[in-house]
Parts: sequence; C-alpha cells; structure tokens
Amino acid sequence: MKTSQNPNEEINNRLGHNVDIYLQALNSARSGIIITDNTQRDNPIIYCNKAFETITGYRHDQIIGHNCRFLQLHDRNQPERELLKEGIKNGKECRVEIRNYKKNGDLFWNELYISPVKDSDGNITLFIGVQNDITARKKAEHELREEKASVEKKIMERTKELRENQIFLSSIIQTVRESLLVLDANFTVLSANSHFLNSFKVTSEETVGTLLFELGNHQWDIDALKELLIKILPTNNPVIDFEVEHDFPHIGKKIMLLNAYRIEFEGQFKDRILLAIEDITEKREIDRRKDDFLSIASHELKTPLTTIKGLVQLLQRMPPEQSSEKYLATLDKVGVYVDRLNNLITELLDTSKIQSGNIELHNEPFNIDKVIKDVVENLTITTPDYRINISGESQAVVLGDELQISQVVTNLISNAIKYSPGSANIDIYISRVGTYVKISVTDYGMGISSQDQARIFDRFFRARNIQQKFPGLGIGLYISHEIVASHSGTLWVESEIDKGSTFSFTLPIMKDDKNGE
Ligand code: ADP
Repeated sequence: MKTSQNPNEEINNRLGHNVDIYLQALNSARSGIIITDNTQRDNPIIYCNKAFETITGYRHDQIIGHNCRFLQLHDRNQPERELLKEGIKNGKECRVEIRNYKKNGDLFWNELYISPVKDSDGNITLFIGVQNDITARKKAEHELREEKASVEKKIMERTKELRENQIFLSSIIQTVRESLLVLDANFTVLSANSHFLNSFKVTSEETVGTLLFELGNHQWDIDALKELLIKILPTNNPVIDFEVEHDFPHIGKKIMLLNAYRIEFEGQFKDRILLAIEDITEKREIDRRKDDFLSIASHELKTPLTTIKGLVQLLQRMPPEQSSEKYLATLDKVGVYVDRLNNLITELLDTSKIQSGNIELHNEPFNIDKVIKDVVENLTITTPDYRINISGESQAVVLGDELQISQVVTNLISNAIKYSPGSANIDIYISRVGTYVKISVTDYGMGISSQDQARIFDRFFRARNIQQKFPGLGIGLYISHEIVASHSGTLWVESEIDKGSTFSFTLPIMKDDKNGE
C-alpha cells in the first residue's frame, strides 16, 4: 500500500477533485463507510470513517490496505459473499446481509451496500461501502422465526393430538353395540355409527348430512322424538331412557330407549347432540314371553293346589277314627304349607297381572286404621315371638281396594319380621300428613344398603347378602309399590345397614272420620 501526506490523496486523485471535506463529514455518520480502490490489486480499503472503526473494533491503521474479507474471518462459506463478488465484478450496486466478526471475535450482522464509482471513461475506480450493524434486528428476527417455528410445532402436535382423539372417539362410537348419532344444533346428522346403519338398514351416504326427521323418507319423523329433542332436551340435559315406540316402514315396529346429551360449546361453536338409541324391542318381547309363561304357569299350578287345599280341609273335617295326634298335627302342617304355596302362587299371578296392566281394583271406602289393626292381629298369632306395636291413628277413610292395601301392610310387616331375626320389636306408626294418611313400618334388623335401596322395588330384586338365608321371590315389594301407586300414593324406604329399616307409604284420605268430612 502506498503512503502519502494526505490520507485522502488517492481518493482525490481517482475522483479528480478534492473531497476531503466530505470525507471528514462522513466521520459523523452512524453507518460505517469505506471506500476501496478497484484499480489496485485485491481492491484494498483506502478510506474508512470513525463509525466503521467503532462497529468493527479495528483501528484505522488495521483497516486501511485490507480487502474487506478480513471481516468474515473464517466464516467464508456464506452465499452473500458470492453476491458481493458478482456485484464488484460487474460494477453493480448490491446489498447483502452478511455475518462479520469484530476484532474481539464477536459476531455481528452487517447490512452492507456497495456501489461503484466510475471515472469519465466509464472504468470503475472506487467502491463505496456503507455498513450497518443489524445484529439486534437479526436477533429479533431470529427469535421471531424460532417462536413461529415453535408455535407451528405446537399447533402440529395439538392437531395430531386432536386427530388422534378424534380417531379414538370415532373408533369408540363405531365399536359400541348401540346405535349412536351425532347431530348438530339443527338436528342434522353429522355422523352415525355402523350399529345405527346396520340396525336401521340405511347407508352412511343417505344418513350423514340429512336432517334427522327426514332420514329414510321421513321414517324418523317421530312426534315423541321431536318432543325429546326440541322440548325436553333444552331444559333437561341429558335425557336418559326416554322410551319411544315407532313403526318403521322397512324394519317394522321398534321400541327404543333414547339417551340424549347436548354438548355445549359456550357460544363459540354450534352445539352438538349425542343421541344413543337402544333397541329394546327384543328384550321387551322376551320379557313379555316370560310374563306370559309366569301367568300361565301360576294359573296351572293354582288349579290343582286349590283341589289339594279342599281335600286337606276335607280330611281335617273328617279325620279317620282314632287318628293319632301326630296324624292330625301332620295334616295341619300340610294345610299351612299348602297355604304358603298358595300365597306364593298368588303373588306370582299378581305380578303378571300388574305387568300386563290387568290388576283389578275393587274400590270401596274403608277404615285404614282397622285394616292395619287386623293385619297386626293376624300376624301376631302366627309370629308370637314378635311384639308388633301400633302407635298413632288416622281415623281416616280411604277409597281403594281394602284387600290389596291389607296385602301391602302384610308384606311390609312380614318383611320386617323376616329380615330382623333376633330382634323382637316392630313399630307401626300411623299419622296424617295433609290430605294423606301415612303408615310407617319400622324394624331393627339387618337394614338395606343404599345401593340396594335404589332397586328394592324392582321385580325379582333381592339383596345379595340375604339370598341364601331367607326364602322369597323378590316380588312382595314390587307388588306393594304398584298397589300403592295405583291408589295414588307412594311407598319408600329409609334404612341403615345393621340398624334397621322403615318402609312408609301414603294414601289419599277420602273422608276424615274425626272431623266428620
Ligand atoms: P322377598 O322378601 O320375597 O325377597 P320382597 O320384594 O318383599 O321379596 O323384598 C325384596 C328384597 O328387599 C328382599 O329380598 C330383601 O333383600 C329386601 N328387604 C325387604 N324388606 C326388608 C327389610 N325390612 N329389611 C331388610 N331388607 C328388606
């Protein structure tokens, strides 16, 4: 590199006039500025301003005479370098963002403009380079890119998760052996599982996207279903075990249990409705056949039993001469067991009558207090070990079937006795509650778990822990419940395991003897 008195002499020479003053002015610029001499080998820097020194950390004397590449240290494989070379070779302006290194080795991003200066013959004599440290911007851009990439990654993961959940859910929906429909808020079918398609003999194409009520040529235009979805569901979510019977043109009559659940999306999306359809037609048919069997069997059993009962009574009335005590006692026992068998069969018959809705009520006004007293008297004779106490009275007249109500009271007290072995007291409490008479039967026996209490009035239900120890069919409470209900009353239980149970029922008062109503 040549030295001269005036450091800018070469520039002045190349330009043909004195630019000292301008170059001096450039010292107050914030951008780093250099000038290179293109007429010399390797295009050396012949001028740099103060800012260039500040940005790079090199001193003036460490800069002048060098080719700009020293700023890249060993980071030579940047494609931007090729752009720069291209620009210099062709004498074109160019702009690059390139990685440079300060004297202390720190990386900085350099936004570099170069533009050629030509002499009067059109030869490129100088290049002017202007550089700005854009590290902060690059860092921000980089962070933004990273952030974006991480958000995109998260979205992808979430989408994958959602898709997996969706596949999981739809595989559950497809696998369950129950018909399931997903509806939108306007009752258009969004999806239907294969059980639905198979059961109702429809295809997915004709189902999905169709309004539920228009499905299969309006086959599903069922009033009860409309009532469920339009009237009941909006205020009673979910609706469980809503029974619908419908005669479908292709598949015949179906009895269905519908469970509907409205999934609410808090306003952002339209709600979805999940509709599960259980076809109980076959189950009902089997139940009906069982009931028929029960009814026929108990009828058939009852006829010979009545004859046996008559014959036993005949033998009791006309015992053979000189019959032994033992003979007579045995005959009495036969009579007792025939009665028990007769009661069991009567209960069975009653059950099937209730099931088929054939129970007949012979409604007459009767005195409820007296009915209870009579039942207690009878039971006290047969179970002398128990003290059955009556407290309270209603002095009310009830309109109903006296025999049936007396059967209810008998059932409750018999159960109280049966399920409280080792405890000798049964308390009966009669009271008046508004326009009702209330009868409660309390025992201090084994009690009933709350789980069993929920099913105690179901047909044939017996608590598991007693099944082997106590005889019974599990229909007494079912019959009692139905009888009380058919008298517009209610029967319920309160019980605690090992403490005892109280069965109570109410009946509407017809007449109030006390007040002479
Ligand atoms: P059954 O006595 O023939 O089994 P019920 O219909 O009268 O039939 O009673 C149903 C079930 O309820 C019984 O099997 C028993 O588990 C339970 N239960 C009824 N009454 C009582 C009671 N007082 N204490 C405890 N358990 C009872």
